Amino acid sequence: MHIKYFLISFLFFSIFTYSLHAQTISVESPDKNIKVEISVVKGNAYYQVYQQKEEFIGQSPLGVLSSAGDFTKGLKIVGSKKNKIQESYQLNRSKVGKVNYKANEVNCILTNTGNDTINVIFRVTNTDVTFSYLIPKSKKNNENCTIEKEITGFKLPSKSTTFITPQAPPLSGWEKTKPSYEEEYTREEPIGTKSQYGLGFTFPALFHLENKGWMLISETGINGNYVGTRLSDASTDGIYTVTFPQEGENNHDGPITATSSLPMQTSWKTITLGKTLKPIVESTASTDVVKPLIKTSKIFDAGRASWSWIVWQDESCNYNDQKTFIDLASDMKCEFILIDALWDVNIGKEKMAELVNYAKSKNVGVLLWYNSNGNWNTAPQTPKNRMNTSEARRSEMKWLQEIGVKGLKIDFFGGDKQATMKLYHNILVDAAEFGLNINFHGATLPRGWERMYPNYMTSEAVLASENLVFQQAFSDKYPSTATIYPFTRNAVASMDFGPVFLNKRLHRESNKGTIRKTTDAFEMATAVVFFSAVQHWGLTPENLKEKPSYLFDYLKAVPTVWDETVFIDGYPGKYCVIARRKNTKWYVAAINGEDKPKNISVNLPMLKGKNVSVINDGEGQESKFSTKKLDNASFNLELSANGGTVLFMP
Ligand code: CA
Repeated sequence: MHIKYFLISFLFFSIFTYSLHAQTISVESPDKNIKVEISVVKGNAYYQVYQQKEEFIGQSPLGVLSSAGDFTKGLKIVGSKKNKIQESYQLNRSKVGKVNYKANEVNCILTNTGNDTINVIFRVTNTDVTFSYLIPKSKKNNENCTIEKEITGFKLPSKSTTFITPQAPPLSGWEKTKPSYEEEYTREEPIGTKSQYGLGFTFPALFHLENKGWMLISETGINGNYVGTRLSDASTDGIYTVTFPQEGENNHDGPITATSSLPMQTSWKTITLGKTLKPIVESTASTDVVKPLIKTSKIFDAGRASWSWIVWQDESCNYNDQKTFIDLASDMKCEFILIDALWDVNIGKEKMAELVNYAKSKNVGVLLWYNSNGNWNTAPQTPKNRMNTSEARRSEMKWLQEIGVKGLKIDFFGGDKQATMKLYHNILVDAAEFGLNINFHGATLPRGWERMYPNYMTSEAVLASENLVFQQAFSDKYPSTATIYPFTRNAVASMDFGPVFLNKRLHRESNKGTIRKTTDAFEMATAVVFFSAVQHWGLTPENLKEKPSYLFDYLKAVPTVWDETVFIDGYPGKYCVIARRKNTKWYVAAINGEDKPKNISVNLPMLKGKNVSVINDGEGQESKFSTKKLDNASFNLELSANGGTVLFMP
């Protein structure tokens, strides 16, 4: 043997024997600030995430247990492919309008002891790490595959703290409608703290890594092909493990596992990280790794809606009150009115057609509420049994299209099993065909749907404004809660909170109901701080007579979808300042989550040299209005206790 070949084969042999102990592949972000290392040690696969050499995720397990092979142990890396991904895409119902997506991808090919193959795909941008498993077709495995569980973990640095919501038990809550992502966020609890129900936590999960920075972990890319997953409680060494749905979800119907034809790809897990909260507020990870699923030339309009139910409640779902709120929508230049539960009984289908025509004559589109039932909860509100089967749904949607309804709010789903994820998908697909836009309530976290479906608008999946009406305790805490959402739930998707209230007490009668704790300027700011492609406002007709007209001039013009979103400043639970742009016009909104006045000096380069209108705190809850030219970029926000400010280009 020639000496050179001998040396090469010796070298290969050395690498091969070494690899039995540890094999490592790494991939960096385009700017090299983030690095992911994927390794196999003694047959177990792991990954680690670093940002500027600081460890954000420690050695954490990778793997799935499936019918096409056990990929939780006995693994080795048999190859890898690296790719540079560069893609520009547009969104028209999101917090940004155009995304230039640049990522470095590594596809690690692993085999188990049975010689079954799995690919682990990591993509790293300058702010996000996303990853997904792909089980390919093979001679041995060529039909369906069932994934029993993931062992994917996230090991947090030991002193990290959390802003995270607990998973609720199945068939719990009002009329057995939970779990529905309507739980309170922790506020900087240590990572070892047990979840409220001992069932782990839901996505997205925000972690504060002391002085290292911040990290948001979530999930995207589910279209009925997978289950919605969540996180376990953390183990003693700080590892949160991906967990599948509970058996009792969807009223015990359907498996908790995920089944699909091969090749089978799992959801993507997303990790957004940085020294500050800026990458988290601005991240597009949840849309970057998904693709539009429906080809259509139809444009589904986003916009603002009047909504009687939120303050006037069930009794207002009658013909006359809805007519009043159509007039309110028209006066406010809203695109829509949302007519909530019980319209089928209190108005009826025939009268509804009349009401839709009346709305049309006022240039207002009608959105109608439906119960998603099915047997997965006992919520009595009707109409029900119209959305749960293909036949009923399609015939209902045909009628809705005929009378000119523009969209649906569908409520009370039954958890995150694949059966329920398929229902969301099927509703969106059918609704797109019948020209209806979609808003899900009592529902799961939307996972990339703003890009996947042309008619998807928004989801609740948060403790929303109904709780301001139901409980004084929620109302008392609301200013602070509102400053958590932009860094958590609303950072990954459209959020139907239903903001903007001007009543002192949230009731039809002015001397009843919960007492609002926020200032009027705070309420105006939430129209920008909260992003939802369709915003349902808490306004009532008397507000227009009682409050200054500049508030309504602002609301008549404020967009609900944006071309750009910029984090200015903030701290979850304390305050939040966000700038958003639509076309050439910037809106900068600030809310104070604390019950004490606050002065915050912010840098607003986008408003430098511009004439702006300012709505900020006046006496008590009242606001004041001014216009000014910003000579330089720095601006001092003077926020009252539970107050706010909005600056905007007229
Ligand atoms: Ca709800």
